[in-house]
Amino acid sequence: MLKLYNTLSRKVEDFVPINTPKVGLYTCGPTVYNFVHIGNLRTYIFEDILQRVLEADSYEVNRVINITDIEDKIIKKAEEERVSIEVITKPYEQAFLENLQKLNIKSANVYPRATEHIGKMIKYIEVLIEKGLAYVEKDGSVYFDISKFPEYGKLSQLDKREIKAGARVKADEYSKEDVVDFALWKAVGSDEIGYDSPWGKGRPGWHIECSVMSQEYLGDTFDIHAGAVDLIFPHHENEIAQSEGKTGKKFANFFIEGEHLLVDGQKMAKSLGNFFTLKDIEAKGFDPLAFRYLVLTAHYRDKLNFTWESLQAAQNALNNLREIIRDWPSSVIASPEGVRQSYYQKFMSAVNNDLNIPQALAVMWDMVKSDNPTSAKAKSILEMDKILGLKLDEYLGKKLEIPEEVQKLVNQREQARKSGDFKKSDELRHEIKKLGFEIEDTPQGPKIKIDKQPS
Ligand SMILES: [Zn+2]
Repeated sequence: MLKLYNTLSRKVEDFVPINTPKVGLYTCGPTVYNFVHIGNLRTYIFEDILQRVLEADSYEVNRVINITDIEDKIIKKAEEERVSIEVITKPYEQAFLENLQKLNIKSANVYPRATEHIGKMIKYIEVLIEKGLAYVEKDGSVYFDISKFPEYGKLSQLDKREIKAGARVKADEYSKEDVVDFALWKAVGSDEIGYDSPWGKGRPGWHIECSVMSQEYLGDTFDIHAGAVDLIFPHHENEIAQSEGKTGKKFANFFIEGEHLLVDGQKMAKSLGNFFTLKDIEAKGFDPLAFRYLVLTAHYRDKLNFTWESLQAAQNALNNLREIIRDWPSSVIASPEGVRQSYYQKFMSAVNNDLNIPQALAVMWDMVKSDNPTSAKAKSILEMDKILGLKLDEYLGKKLEIPEEVQKLVNQREQARKSGDFKKSDELRHEIKKLGFEIEDTPQGPKIKIDKQPS
């Protein structure tokens, strides 16, 4: 039985889908005005793990990741550069999808774009006005009236904070302390980027996009809404108000939010110079999957501290695992009951316990180091990797092919070492490294490995 922490109740609950075996999963996607940073990517990896665990539990997941391609910052940039918003958003949308692929994050079933749902957003807002939950300002902007939705604040537990009824905020981003009416539709000038609506030219607010697109693809009530913790308020709170206000039904049964990634113990910020993207990680010679491995070492509800040293440790662990399984058979037999029971079941009970992946990783390493037959271990590691997503099948049983040139240098180095010429031996090691290989001296002689170490 899968257990998940639900922000709505602040408790770990049994997960029971509305319509077994189908599971609707909505995960807030990127605003495509910039490259996503490694903190965002941590969230997408956690959501991918959630999807993989659901699938391992035999559920059929319908995953939606929206693309926010209209928003204040995008419009500002487009107006400054005098181009259409697509010119701004398309390259970042493409880069986002490439990032997901490099991190072996499964594709969503649908990636709806906000700009393709403007008509539906207008209709949705009309219903909210009819129901008395929203009001139109003189300038043609439309606001959600939080005083008309008594449950406002239930997700973020706002009851202790002061709700400023009647106060308004127009920006997409506002202070966590501002508990105020929020914009559903923002009026714009006739020469600005916008869409025609019954209230004049304008553009949708950020929150309405997610209510409309989640319900469009998953129904009025769906199983899981996920994102990062900073979305709990106001974004997810406002989505609940809009959606439950409109339908009178529960919006999502589970809200699951992943914790932040810190860099050297601090929040990532451009001003601190600690703002990294996947490109930065690759530029230093790391494998994107080493970042995935690093993310797996922390529970999704704990903060993860990113340092280059911790990424190096993750890369080393991944390299080590790959080296070990190269020597295992690639054609695998069913794992004997013993291996299944002692390791795979422990592994699954860890992942089903609110996605305890760090514990599952530890079980995987116990299994790898156990003295079970390698053919049984090979079968088990493939099963476990369906959840871990480290593409281990690309290494299992694939003995390293050493080019002749490399082998020659290795032999020369061994000669140099034996004759005590350590200077020459070091030079040769360096040359071998340049060709992408690394030598480890073992009591059995030199062992050649693929060098995935950043230089
Ligand atoms: Zn959202």
